[in-house]
This record gives sequence, C-alpha cells and structure tokens, in this order.
Amino acid sequence: MTSTQQTDDLRDLYRELILDHARNPRHFGRLELATHSAEGINPLCGDKLRLELCLDGTKKIVDAAFEGSGCAISIASASLMADSVIGLDAIAAERWFEQVTSRICGHEHSDHVDLGKLAALEGVREFPSRVKCATLAWHALHSALDGDAATVSTE
Ligand code: ZN
Repeated sequence: MTSTQQTDDLRDLYRELILDHARNPRHFGRLELATHSAEGINPLCGDKLRLELCLDGTKKIVDAAFEGSGCAISIASASLMADSVIGLDAIAAERWFEQVTSRICGHEHSDHVDLGKLAALEGVREFPSRVKCATLAWHALHSALDGDAATVSTE
C-alpha cells in the first residue's frame, strides 16, 4: 500500500467519523446541573450553539452537553468536543482547546500531541471557509471555562 493510499483511507475514515457525529451528535441537549455555559455563533455560516458544562469541586468536567443548529462540521465538532472533554479537568480541557484550534487553523505545534479521533477535525484546514465551523464549539468551551458569559462569535 502506498502512503498516498493510506492517506486516502484515513481521510475516508475521518469523513465517516464526521458524518457519524453530525447525524448522531453525542451529548446533545441540556444539563440539569450546569455550572458553566457559553454560547457561540458563526455568522459566516449561520452555526449557533449553546454549551453547558458541569464541573465538580476539583474543576473536573463531569458532564457536558450542547444544543444548537448548524452545518455538519459545526455539529460534529461540538459532538467530538463534548465527548473528549468529559472526565478532564479544566486545565487539560484548555490545553485541548489550544491544540485543536491551532491544528485546525494549520499552525504547526512544537509539541505534536496525538489528537486521537479529534484528528478528524484537522482535515478541515484544507477548506479555509469551514475552519470557523470546526472551531466554534472549542471557542465556546474556552469561553465557558473562562466563566465569561458573553456570546462568542467567530467574527
Ligand atoms: Zn458551519
């Protein structure tokens, strides 16, 4: 198998993952006991979401949920994000925010961490107009953890 073929296979796998999360978003809805929340909008595409987090006394994210409407990439990204941050403490989640947004935006990072399934979002950087769709949920995460109640906008 050539490396080009491997890359194509990986792309197909990532595309499947994105479509799966877009069709069946995980953690879609509201939390009974949210301690942190933020709203995000991407006027460029019309994506809107509200993210809720529940942090315990040690600042660990014990639950996360989002609701909203938008394109497949924005929904899939929010679903993958919620899936990934549950169980992390706030500092680790902030680190993911930095890693994922810089990778989606195509910035090379010196500490090249394994993004796991979040690497599926990295493919978006080939489509600059969709970068804001993919980073919206992550900016909402950052804003929610910051305790900044204002709506984040990608514009
Ligand atoms: Zn979008």
